Amino acid sequence: QLVLVTGVTGFIGAHVAVSLLNKGYRVRGTVRTMDKANELVRLNPELKDKIEFVIVKDIMAPYAFKDVIKDCDYVCHIASPFIVENITNNKDQLLDPAVNGTLSALEAAVTEPKVKRVVITSSFAAIGNFTVDPSNGYTYTEKDWNPITYDEAVSANNGIVAYCASKKLAEKAAREWVKEKQPHFDISTVNPPYVFGPPIHPMNSMDSLNTSNQILWTVINGSKVQPSIQHVEVDVRDVANAHVLALESPHLSNGRLLVSCGPFSTNSISKVLRDRFPEKKDVISEPSDVPFNEKHYTLDNSLSKSLGLKYYSEEQTYIDTAAKLWERAEQF
Ligand code: NDP
Repeated sequence: QLVLVTGVTGFIGAHVAVSLLNKGYRVRGTVRTMDKANELVRLNPELKDKIEFVIVKDIMAPYAFKDVIKDCDYVCHIASPFIVENITNNKDQLLDPAVNGTLSALEAAVTEPKVKRVVITSSFAAIGNFTVDPSNGYTYTEKDWNPITYDEAVSANNGIVAYCASKKLAEKAAREWVKEKQPHFDISTVNPPYVFGPPIHPMNSMDSLNTSNQILWTVINGSKVQPSIQHVEVDVRDVANAHVLALESPHLSNGRLLVSCGPFSTNSISKVLRDRFPEKKDVISEPSDVPFNEKHYTLDNSLSKSLGLKYYSEEQTYIDTAAKLWERAEQF
């Protein structure tokens, strides 16, 4: 069974490819340049000759994926900009690539009768309402949506708002498209919060590290920030397995899968890593005295668990991520 993975040289895309290969699927991965594909294989020699790379330079172009969908049984559409800084045009840089890229993937799938399901990497960003007090003790489920409108997103002076909107609008567009077109396949989405985990994908430098791992990196790269950020996290390897589940499970036909390991704070990352790597104390920020907020909202991951998804412990995620980040940093 052949799976088209869009954005295979991204942080999550590379891990999804690994999970699919481990499960016996064949993977065709879209990349913007062959240089990046070669770099992915150089970094992970076990992937040599395992992924069929195809170039899709612009995911927004009409029919962007039409030449690469042939013979695919499934699609995992992951490529979408995850940037929240230095955004000068929300529409061009975030909203259009997210929405039009998703619709391009669906329109390509229509042309291949073999396609059974398109899995879309959505996000908790499409779900969480960040305009309300995060200490409201709320438990988000697959039923929730963030309230940001298109107009608010276009004019927002805040990259996080624009990014959250891009994920909501892309997911909504996909669900409306399916309702209207009634294609021969169904869809499902995976909705992760902050994803941490060992980066196995190409990067130019640690400055180009993917957005979510940057939070963990700032705790351990000697920059001595006073950590106090609190949010909810999940391991990239769990997210990758969730994509396989979202592709296979009959329960997720046109469904939505919220995945989460649990709440984290940068304080808890510091504590776990200072304990595990005492020799690295100089570069791991000291925990601040900001207490863990027990009333912080949480995510209900019971559907994913009931379908058999297992989660890494938060400690293991921090340890494996930190070890890989230090290893990668030494290579630059
Ligand atoms: P990365 O930045 O590592 O990966 C993004 C991927 O999308 C890359 O493969 C990138 O290609 C591709 N891409 C981005 N913009 C374009 C574009 N305009 N045209 C073509 N390709 C593009 O981020 P992540 O792996 O973290 O994100 C992957 C997906 O997961 C995104 O949809 C993101 O919204 C979602 N997500 C991520 C979370 C996280 O915490 N990391 C949480 C929830 C959802 P290239 O390799 O060439 O740069």
